[in-house]
Amino acid sequence: MKRVSMVDLNLHCHCNAFSFSFVKMKNNTTASQEKCIIRLLLYHFGVNLPVMLASYPVFRHMGMQTSLPFPSWNVILTQITFYFILEDFIFYWGHRILHTKWMYKHVHSVHHEYATPFGLTSEYAHPAEILFLGFATIIGPAITGPHLLTLWLWMVLRVLETVEAHCGYHFPWSLSNFLPLYGGADFHDYHHRLLYTKSGNYSSTFTYMDWVFGTDKGYRKLQALKDGGVENGGKQM
Ligand SMILES: [Zn+2]
Ligand SMILES: [Zn+2]
Repeated sequence: MKRVSMVDLNLHCHCNAFSFSFVKMKNNTTASQEKCIIRLLLYHFGVNLPVMLASYPVFRHMGMQTSLPFPSWNVILTQITFYFILEDFIFYWGHRILHTKWMYKHVHSVHHEYATPFGLTSEYAHPAEILFLGFATIIGPAITGPHLLTLWLWMVLRVLETVEAHCGYHFPWSLSNFLPLYGGADFHDYHHRLLYTKSGNYSSTFTYMDWVFGTDKGYRKLQALKDGGVENGGKQM
């Protein structure tokens, strides 16, 4: 499999989506991984759980069903697709705000402590950011009042998506190999490697928002350089 570290380009090799190269930049220490796990437990019980409990009446008020029959797959897939698009849009702008000087220094720098992310770091963030960007995750269900099954499915898929984006590996089965507008680990790894003012790649799931607003130029340039290096006899930058 391919570690998608972007900084040490000398170590990049191989040419197609199914070739794997190990290009890990640096290991996270055991202590830093322990710190991540402890903080996550603290935030999940101290922040996420209270938000879940508080949002339950809102979902009920908006018509959330918890009884049989289950909704059709058509309804489930339509709602979840809508949630992904809405979440990505709000996340993009929220994330750009988090990359302004004050917000980065006091809030978002916590999430960027890990320049070489691993799956668990996807949830590692300042409590204020958990609330701020968590809004993007729950606004879709909050305004449409889905069945509880749809809500759970959405939450599971959203967590899987962000864990994959932070896992640091580009797998043969990664969705970005099959869906042209899907970001994935390579896309988000780039975001974690640059200075906060130059990061780019602010979207959570898709790539089109960064393309439309020109915040993926550095990433695209790097991709072009890598592709060019491959096409010219397999040599990399
Ligand atoms: Zn960021
Ligand atoms: Zn991240």
